[in-house]
Amino acid sequence: MFELEKLIRENIKKLVPYSSARDEFTGQANVYLDANENSLGSPLVKWYNRYPDPHQTQLKDAISRVKGAPAERIFLGNGSDECIDLLYRSFCNPGKDNVIICPPTYGMYEVSANINDVEIRRAPLLDNFQLDLVHIETLVDANTKLLWICSPNNPTGNSIEREDIEMVLNNFNGIVVIDEAYINFSRQKSFVQELADYPNLVVMQTFSKAWGLAGLRLGMAFASPEIINVLNKVKPPYNINQATQDLAMKALEEVGQVNDMIKELVQMRDALAEVFQKLPGVQAVYPSDANFLLVKVDEPKEMYTYLLGKGIVVRDRSNVILCEGCLRITIGTEQENTVLVDAFIDAITEKQVSLNQN
Ligand SMILES: *Cc1c(COP(=O)(O)O)cnc(C)c1O
Repeated sequence: MFELEKLIRENIKKLVPYSSARDEFTGQANVYLDANENSLGSPLVKWYNRYPDPHQTQLKDAISRVKGAPAERIFLGNGSDECIDLLYRSFCNPGKDNVIICPPTYGMYEVSANINDVEIRRAPLLDNFQLDLVHIETLVDANTKLLWICSPNNPTGNSIEREDIEMVLNNFNGIVVIDEAYINFSRQKSFVQELADYPNLVVMQTFSKAWGLAGLRLGMAFASPEIINVLNKVKPPYNINQATQDLAMKALEEVGQVNDMIKELVQMRDALAEVFQKLPGVQAVYPSDANFLLVKVDEPKEMYTYLLGKGIVVRDRSNVILCEGCLRITIGTEQENTVLVDAFIDAITEKQVSLNQN
């Protein structure tokens, strides 16, 4: 049985959240003298002298329309990274509770656990980059509060099998967090539509990838209204600044343009994967549902350094479990991808030349 009340930390249950000026008065007034703002204005746009809406009501309504989830099921964070941290702070007692992660995966689940002094239990993915359900089951105990699933997964790029995720959702009595940062590049359906079926589900998405707004820092968590209320209690009152709220509202009017970019990136990803597959020195290109490719090469460190010398920076993942020999390469523009492939070919030919000379 899933019982949210049992998962919430005692201090958070008892917490009286900060009540801001904007909480205590929500109507319309002509003269605002309640928040010690600068009444004369600001050097920038007029309304930036005012504190932003702590509940981001307009922005959530706009997101609700695009995502098909009611506003009461939406939490907004200063990037997904803030959502991750708030989940730890709301549910995990430092030095006592534990969480499960499935490496290789996104590094922030681990960093945030360490910051919050929460024990990490690892159930590495299987060789096919899917969940090891048997291993996961052996790790769960009464203090296991969160289970992190990243799908499509970073850095492997694949989606996690839907039936496996459902198995976890149906059997784990803690909170299952599905990080869907790359969902827009995937053929898989989002779990946002399944929220009503799973009271233990949190789905995270972000404006940093498909929306092209990594600089704004805006992450989304979708969950039951009860879980959303807990996160709202713990978050800093003004965690989403006014500039981000304004610009995200504008971006949400351009869904068509974003969908075009997604299509183009997916096409380039699939084309680039085919090109890499045929290159000598490349051992494997793993199937990707994301906006990057995981590529296994003969000499990852040499290749990384060579590319860097040409001004191209990729991510060396060769020291990461199950990713031996691998580079993680983000899909660039058409021109950037060409420059990358040319540099790759140069690296391999130069190496062959020097081998022949030896
Ligand atoms: C990039 C990424 C994010 C995004 O984090 P933000 O803080 O929203 O920029 C989240 N999860 C994964 C797995 C990522 O790769």
